[in-house]
Amino acid sequence: LRCCSSNGSGEKERTLGIIKPDGLSGNYSDRIKQVILESGFNINKEMVIQLDEENAANFYAEHSSKPFFTNLIKYMTSGPVLVMILEKEDAVIHWRELIGPTDAGKAKITHPQSLRAMCGVDIEKNCVHGSDSHQSAQREIAFFFKEAPSAFKTEAVRKHDEL
Ligand code: GDP
Ligand code: MG
Repeated sequence: LRCCSSNGSGEKERTLGIIKPDGLSGNYSDRIKQVILESGFNINKEMVIQLDEENAANFYAEHSSKPFFTNLIKYMTSGPVLVMILEKEDAVIHWRELIGPTDAGKAKITHPQSLRAMCGVDIEKNCVHGSDSHQSAQREIAFFFKEAPSAFKTEAVRKHDEL
């Protein structure tokens, strides 16, 4: 792997972006992808998948003791998500800037240009995910793209994917 932490060398970094169930069902994917490409990211890989409870709990393991964990798992399994590897110089920090703060309700006031302001609703339903560090990005990319991604896909989603 040729990638890098952000050190001004001009090398590309990769991060994980997810359009969450509300973003996908609300038909925001095209607009979000347009913003991604206009912001200079390359969408390296993408797939639509339906997470089950176990997948979602593993992905968000760091939050397992939080009071919102059960709701978070319900939310993330409520419909398919679109997972993307985004590539750019300093991709992790640039993608976090683009999505805006966790609370989409507050983002509408403090960061009106952010993606969460555009398509999110509140602190839970914030329509997009972004890795919070270079290390998280590596873990999350491996989680979806190196560990037999077909295991994540339901038959219905696979068909949708192949259309
Ligand atoms: P992120 O890194 O900005 O996505 O935020 P966190 O890592 O802190 O939380 C992960 C996800 O859990 C968020 O994107 C929200 O969907 C959800 N979440 C975070 N905080 C809360 C909360 O206080 N209440 C509820 N219901 N959901 C939350
Ligand atoms: Mg986080």
